[in-house]
Amino acid sequence: MSKSSNLPVVTLHPGKEKPVRQRHPWVFSGAIASVDGQPAAGDLVDVAAASGEWLARGYFNARSQIVVRLLTWEQPEPCDVDFWRRRLVAAAARRAALAADPDTTAYRLVYAESDAAPGLIVDRYGDWLAVQFLTAGVEARRELLLGLLAELCTPAGIVDRSDASVRRQEGLPLRSGLAWGERPPADLELRENGLRFPVDLLGGQKTGFYLDQRENRRIVGQLAAGRRVLNAFSFTGAFAVNALAGGATHVTNVDSSYDALLGAEAALRCNRFDPDRQAEGVAGDVFQVLRGFRDEGRVFDMVILDPPKFARSKAELTGATRGYKDINLLGLRLLAPDGLLATFSCSGLVTADLFQKIVFGASVDAGRDVQIIARLSQGADHPVLLSFPEGEYLKGLLCRAA
Ligand code: SAH
Repeated sequence: MSKSSNLPVVTLHPGKEKPVRQRHPWVFSGAIASVDGQPAAGDLVDVAAASGEWLARGYFNARSQIVVRLLTWEQPEPCDVDFWRRRLVAAAARRAALAADPDTTAYRLVYAESDAAPGLIVDRYGDWLAVQFLTAGVEARRELLLGLLAELCTPAGIVDRSDASVRRQEGLPLRSGLAWGERPPADLELRENGLRFPVDLLGGQKTGFYLDQRENRRIVGQLAAGRRVLNAFSFTGAFAVNALAGGATHVTNVDSSYDALLGAEAALRCNRFDPDRQAEGVAGDVFQVLRGFRDEGRVFDMVILDPPKFARSKAELTGATRGYKDINLLGLRLLAPDGLLATFSCSGLVTADLFQKIVFGASVDAGRDVQIIARLSQGADHPVLLSFPEGEYLKGLLCRAA
């Protein structure tokens, strides 16, 4: 192979190059025969087939199971500042329609591997950006990337929310704080589907708001007229606000986090809904609270179940399956005849097929005939590359229970 780049070379075992040729961006440790040139974490490397043929270029981290994350399949393309600038410009251009929509000021600007920028997540919240550097490769380029984001997006400030636990798998510490520019106000207001939400970018969960549910919240809102809504795992009540805006008669938010419920009250007030008359917040474990509702004979016309990721690893899959089944069974039991269930799973390991089977199991136990009205997914600002199906994680079913 030509050594024109002078980068360290990672050579694959025979027969392991197919995913690389098909542009899957991950090279796992088991595929690697040798590493020449002693790259450090985050360094660029060339990847070669067992025959010596050049295949791709990416960044390296021996501490991760994913030893190389691929950046380019074009041998002459250097992975320098201009390379990253092009990637960020392209990702932003794909969101031009969202950027032009005055009803939505918050969206994912860069979705890591799915936007050909492995390890990098950038969310836009009006004049601020929230960034996650999830791998050693982007961590090593942190200053460069912050500089480019400041130059290209001209934000008021950039918040670093690199406190996602996946960083530990890369040997990186967790970190969060202001990275550039001005501190966002703790009650920064974003707009989504024409509604208003205060968001605490420095103190909130994840990057402050679950942007991936925007489209599903709109759909739920459009179906909520005249319904009593149970919003389980409510976080700051974004589904509830959409439901009330769509004409729901009352919403019940349930979350284990008291702070999240306070955020929900603020979001309701922000949209001129009365948190006492039109809504209630119940702090507690959804599994227990829903059992309590059942014992009290409470009934809802719409139930939303948006739990956190139950399956973080294959070892957790059985327990997660049981958890999803339990909440769906409890949710179905609380539904009035012809009630609507909007049920989600954000566990990548739970496939859409498995999720449907789980909800089916719950419907059998609940003794309800359930129709799927729509299959739901993450919003278009969280695109899924066909060559990287791992980028798809959020799935939902909108169901009607007879
Ligand atoms: N639907 C929300 C996002 C939900 S995130 C939105 O649209 O913004 C998941 C939420 O579930 C978090 O707020 C977390 O505090 C809460 N949670 C996690 N486990 C829980 C449990 N067992 N009972 C109640 N809430 C839980």
